[in-house]
Amino acid sequence: MLIVMKSGSTREDVDRVRDVIQGLGYESQALPVAERLAVRVSEYAREPSCELFETLPGVELVLPISHPVRKVGRLARSEDTVLRFGSREVGSGGFTLVAGPCAVENEEQILAVARSVRDAGADMLRGGAYKPRTSPYDFQGLGEEGLKLLALARKETGLPVITEAVDEASVELAEEYADVIQIGARNMQNFALLKRLGRSRRPLLLKRGMSATLEDLLLSAEYLLDAGNPNVILCERGIRSFSDHSRYTLDLSIVPVLERLTHLPVFVDPSHASGHRSSVAPLARAAMAAGADGVMIEVHPDPSLALCDGPQSLRPEEFAALAASLKSLAPFMAEQRETVP
Ligand code: PEP
Ligand code: MN
Repeated sequence: MLIVMKSGSTREDVDRVRDVIQGLGYESQALPVAERLAVRVSEYAREPSCELFETLPGVELVLPISHPVRKVGRLARSEDTVLRFGSREVGSGGFTLVAGPCAVENEEQILAVARSVRDAGADMLRGGAYKPRTSPYDFQGLGEEGLKLLALARKETGLPVITEAVDEASVELAEEYADVIQIGARNMQNFALLKRLGRSRRPLLLKRGMSATLEDLLLSAEYLLDAGNPNVILCERGIRSFSDHSRYTLDLSIVPVLERLTHLPVFVDPSHASGHRSSVAPLARAAMAAGADGVMIEVHPDPSLALCDGPQSLRPEEFAALAASLKSLAPFMAEQRETVP
């Protein structure tokens, strides 16, 4: 746990906080964070509750993490990070709809999806050319050919494209063809990849690893910002749990926490989280209600023929209905979040 002191806090304020920590039987350490002082409570099996410190004089914020996040935290920057793609903005209070197939399969497929999601009001097109598959025998993606098809779809529709890179070679190609480079859940802690993408000029979408804590996710994002790339979107895509009615468990509870702790935009991917088409629309609406800045939805012209993730892919008409539902809800939800933050 990190207790961040207000910029004008006094030595006595800090000592008082440390006395309370000591009185509870924990150890503490004072350290500088973004031009302020923070008190780190040493990690034990059970941490004291945040509320114990929130009302002490001089305390600005209590973070449920033990490592200081110097660049992704709100202390480093209080205004939201906004990414711009032509006239489209991500993270400025609107709701971004990213849609497209799990994998680019061929020209006909990607152009059909791109046109249908554009007509339905999507803001960005997704599509994998490098697929990190659990089994080596599953479709691995078209590689550079897939990136060329994505670039063609962007030319046809005007939609910015987002695609995953998995290593140095695919990063270089994705930088050439795509507008946003995705770091997949399985690579969230591939630190060499994070350092490389931190040096990229392309905006990034960082997916939460399926076993990553809040702190793991924030520190992976910290790698990207620390290496020089400020344009990062975080994405919750479901975590592993005992629950087996869905592919993963969508942890929507991380959305308001991320919105409070970081200035980065937060997306939710209900497709990979649920694994079932029928759960995608309800979870996407729930993501909007929780305060996410956008959702990423898998769409396929004929999910029964999809080479990857067919059962969770929406048909174009299902996506159009969801997009309309989200667009009509957006102003109401925004107003509700203002009224009851
Ligand atoms: C994807 O978005 O194509 C994907 C593979 O997702 P994840 O990394 O979240 O499993
Ligand atoms: Mn997929």
